[in-house]
Amino acid sequence: YNKHIIDMVVSAKVSKTQGRLGTPFIWGATNSWGGIRTRNFQTNQFENCDAIEPEAIDEHVTGYASCFGCQVHCRAKYIIPSGEYAGVYDEGPEYTVQGALTAETGCADLVALLSGSHLLNTYGIDCLEAGSMIAWAMELYEAGILTNKDTGGLELRFGNAEALNEMIHRIARREGLGDILAEGPLRAAKKIGKNSIKYLIHVKGMSNLHSDERATPALALNVAVASRGSDHLRGRPAIDLYGLPEPVLRRIYSQPVPYDG
Ligand code: SF4
Repeated sequence: YNKHIIDMVVSAKVSKTQGRLGTPFIWGATNSWGGIRTRNFQTNQFENCDAIEPEAIDEHVTGYASCFGCQVHCRAKYIIPSGEYAGVYDEGPEYTVQGALTAETGCADLVALLSGSHLLNTYGIDCLEAGSMIAWAMELYEAGILTNKDTGGLELRFGNAEALNEMIHRIARREGLGDILAEGPLRAAKKIGKNSIKYLIHVKGMSNLHSDERATPALALNVAVASRGSDHLRGRPAIDLYGLPEPVLRRIYSQPVPYDG
């Protein structure tokens, strides 16, 4: 227990914001400067998405939970407001599932986001990988590489929130196309064939986070060389993300002061 360190952490503006809106608080900044991969990376900004902004999620939040011993309390406790899972309690959604289930799939649908996050939690499925694989399948469908025969008649188009949640079920139950997507990026691309791998957004067979790394070279290098694939948890490239002044960078990273934009 170190009161001084805890005070430093909880008094930081970023911790207060994160403890108020959870990790989706990042969304406004990253989407406004074009850092959100949208519709399987066809664009890098999700337009008309007020419905899934953190302030909209917050209307259905009853409080915040914390990981063991952490004072920040950034994990929202929410109630799904309507739809098939109306009234169901869950926790999240974190920034990653927010991007994977909305921008990547083109679904600016709050209920689909909260329900999808709940389904992924319930099934115990990696949200980033699931959202990315479904977004990839949506582009393949729109490009004619996947057809209604492959999807069992499901209109797997960008923006179809019902199809999004249905595909989460099918992946978990390994039904039809879901059985192929459940194999993960490279094996799924091999099974589908027809140049489908050209539409995959991955590094070493691991789907990327929904961020467009081109504006943040340190993050791009991180995901390009991370040992298990596109893994934003193997580095801490705050250098690019926050535009910290040089004296601060020197205190954090010592020498040399890195890329300055
Ligand atoms: S340790 Fe858990 S509660 Fe604390 S900031 Fe990280 S994710 Fe949030």
